[in-house]
Amino acid sequence: METASTGKKSALSGTKCRLGLEMSLGLIRVTRFIYWMVARNALLVNHRLFELGIYSDDLCLLCGMHNETHTHLFQECQYSKMITAGTVALVKLQIPSSNTLVWIQTRMWSSTKKDVVFCAFMNAHYSIWMQRNRSRVYNQIL
Ligand SMILES: [Zn+2]
Repeated sequence: METASTGKKSALSGTKCRLGLEMSLGLIRVTRFIYWMVARNALLVNHRLFELGIYSDDLCLLCGMHNETHTHLFQECQYSKMITAGTVALVKLQIPSSNTLVWIQTRMWSSTKKDVVFCAFMNAHYSIWMQRNRSRVYNQIL
């Protein structure tokens, strides 16, 4: 941001820009990590925690009606279907509900289009996981 009187950039605005950029890059890294964990079925969903004896039930924290497995949480749950439907509408494509990453990678699209569609689904998975964790923290089923 430039000051009106001098036309020079203030040091504070430069700091804010760098902080904002670093926070954005951090969020992108976390989002990418969550998507990577989803693709490997490596997140500690309730079914896995139940199998490990950490939790006494394995119900989905979003709907409370089914076992919270990776497949249920990211493909079958009504909440996830709503988020995925919104993402599909956003990118305006017919996208399969499973193996989305492989499907995107095998399209004959430009790398930019693949990146945009991939980012949209990465953010959808991140949103689902964060909402699931909010349900855990606040002990609320949606
Ligand atoms: Zn569910």
